[in-house]
Formats: sequence, structure tokens, C-alpha cells
Amino acid sequence: MFLHRRLIVIVVVALGMTGTGVESRGERVDFGQFFEAGALRVDLIHSGTAATETVAVRRIVKQRYWAGNQANLIPDVDRGEYRVDIRDKATGTLIYRRGYSTLFGEWQTTAEADVVNRAFEETLLMPLPRGPVELEIAVRNEKGLFETITQAPIDPGSRLIGRGGMSGGVKVHQLVENGPPGDKVDLLILGDGYTIIEREKFLKDCAQRVEDFLGTEPFAAFADRFNFRAVFVASAESGIDEPRKSIYRDTPFGMSFNTFDSPRYCMTEDVWAIHDAAAHAPYDAILLMSNTSRYGGGAIYNFYTAFASDNEFDDYLCVHEFGHGFGSLGDEYYSSSVSYNDFYPRGVEPWEPNITALLDTDNLKWQQFVEPGTPIPTPADDSRYAKAVGAFEGAGYAAKGLYRPAVDCKMFSKGNREFCPVCSHAITEMIRFYAPD
Ligand SMILES: [Zn+2]
Repeated sequence: MFLHRRLIVIVVVALGMTGTGVESRGERVDFGQFFEAGALRVDLIHSGTAATETVAVRRIVKQRYWAGNQANLIPDVDRGEYRVDIRDKATGTLIYRRGYSTLFGEWQTTAEADVVNRAFEETLLMPLPRGPVELEIAVRNEKGLFETITQAPIDPGSRLIGRGGMSGGVKVHQLVENGPPGDKVDLLILGDGYTIIEREKFLKDCAQRVEDFLGTEPFAAFADRFNFRAVFVASAESGIDEPRKSIYRDTPFGMSFNTFDSPRYCMTEDVWAIHDAAAHAPYDAILLMSNTSRYGGGAIYNFYTAFASDNEFDDYLCVHEFGHGFGSLGDEYYSSSVSYNDFYPRGVEPWEPNITALLDTDNLKWQQFVEPGTPIPTPADDSRYAKAVGAFEGAGYAAKGLYRPAVDCKMFSKGNREFCPVCSHAITEMIRFYAPD
């Protein structure tokens, strides 16, 4: 596998093309031949330590909605720490692929993972196959190349595959409708920590977030390609957990500050509960809004995007986090303290489109945006390059050895309104994947 990919990379570079290629990337799959209406939901238990991991299938069910684009079943780009492939059993044809990252994968880089074996919930949602398929989950190895860790045959016609759970007491609100889910980017907002009497505040907070998204480029330019829906589930108590203040709340989705004991990291491990509620509406991406005025959030690519409902940086926060959760972008900053140990392994090119280890200065992965004559690496203190695209040292929580495309960007500094050209392009690619021209 490793040698195979290396050979292909060399051929592609020799042809002068950018990026890396594998034989099946971006291939067209006849949706109607292999899939029918509806979704297949696969719940997984992902467990292990810093050095080990196991992905086990917990349950497989059918659900009503799959919101993806029927012409784009296999992405052109390989992003994410993990990858799920679905192959038609009869022919072996690759018919569906998604890259994604996980909370487990992030946890593996914390100190706790050196001493404890832990398990995390995960959910994969895919279009409903007509016939038997083979599911394959792969993870990147230390060289950044995918290795299979789980395989499972799935027969959607089996009487053991039932209908998925839909949690009760759920109300779906249509916020912005621009067209059928298959042709649009469908964003679903779930609120946590809103009590029954805070439903109006939830809808007001949702409307504000929609404004934040559609007021930021490149989302603004593609505003008519987005649908926004919101799911309201009443919380028993108002607000969310803040363990460092010994505050704990009874809420439907278990949102909590201090994830991995980091002050502002605010996530949840209750992934199945989220998907039980989300099953009531079509979605390409899930946005989790915590009812709190404290600054905090987080996001993981094709996993979920989380942010606080109201604080002084809220218009920045939700869109920055969505850059991770939807755009597959990495953090370009390096000064904040985070609880990860060497989040990006040395000597390996990160898969994120906006961070590079600069292992090959002649083949910068965002070369197409660099003006000829720009020095690589690019000095951040030279005013001539203040607005340029180059390779500025300091990115991905490391001051040395990793480089970002611009001096400043929404993925670099808190409060910045704009994505740099490289980040903006990566997000646009994703918008076009879900909502093609
Ligand atoms: Zn950027």
C-alpha cells in the first residue's frame, strides 16, 4: 500500500500536476445502480490507547435521510485522519468514500492516552446500498498513509438491520431553504442546554449564527447553496457542564467545557444521542450550539462543529470552528496552550490543506496561490509579504517546523473576519462537493 501510493505520487509530480492521486479518486459512481433512497447508519465503538486502536461495529440501522450529492460519492481529495470505503460486494467496485477525523484520534495525542484505555462513540452515515457491501475503515499510519483497521460485510436486506432510533420530543425548524438536500449543503444546528422556556432564545441564536456564516466569505458568495435547519430538544437544565468550576448540567447532548482538561475546548462524547436527534432532518454537517456566554468550542472534520451561543467572539468562533469541521482546515496558530503532545508528527506532511511541513520547498501544496518571486519559507516580519500567500513558519500548535499560507487568517488569529486565500479555496471545494455548479 505504502509503495503503491509512493509510485503514484512520483508519477503525478512528474506530470507537473498538484496533489497526490489514487486510482479511485473522484470517480463517477452510478448512484441509482448501487443506492436507493434513505441512509445507512453505522454506529461504532472506537477504543484504545496512545499506541493502539480498535474500531468495532456497535449497530447498523436504516434511517430516512441522506443529504449528500448523488454525483459526488467519492471525493477528489483525501482529507481526514480516517477514511470509510464502501465496496459493492458482487463487483468489488468502490461506490462510496468519506474522509473524517475523530475525537478518539485527538484524545490519542493527550497524556491520558499513555496510561488509560478508553472508548468513544462514533457514527457514520452513508446512502443506503441496494445490495450487500463491504465496509472498510482505514487510519493514517505514522507516514500519513492509510491502513485498514476494520472490515465488515453489510447486507442492507438482512432482517437484523432495523430502522434507526429517533429520539422523542424533537422539533425541526426550517431556517433557510434553497433547494433539495441532494443539491445543497445542508447544515443542521442542534442546541444543548436550552430549556423548554428558552426555545425562542435558541431560534434567535440560530438566526444569528446563520447570519455569521452567510456574512463571511466564501460562504457569502455561495449563500444560495446552503440549507439551514435547526433541531430543538428541550434541556432539563439551562447551560452546559463546566468541570473546572464544578458546574454540571443535565442536558440532552452532554456538551462540556474542559474537554481533555483544556480550558476552552468544549465538546461532547455523546455522539449517538446527537445522531438520534439529527435523524429527524437531512444534514451534511452537524453544528452543536451550547447555550452559554463563555467563549469555547471545537470541531473535528466530518465529525461535528461545536461553539458557544453568545459571547464577544461568537461571530468569529462558529465560522472558525466550521473551517475545521467542514473545510478540513487545521489551526494555523501556535502560541495558545493546548493539551496535545506533538499533534502533528515530525517529518510527515499534514493532510490539512492549509498547513505544511515544507518537506519539499519546490512543491508547496498551495503553490497555485503563490506569486512568483515570493521566498519560501516567507519572512513574516517583512511588510512586503504582509498580504501575500507564502509559507510562514509557525502553524498547527508548533512555532517551528510547520508553516501556514498567510501572515494572518481566520484559522490563525482570534477575531479575524477573513480566511486566507488557501483556506477560502479549501472551503469552496467542499461547498462544490455537496452543492455542485
Ligand atoms: Zn488560512
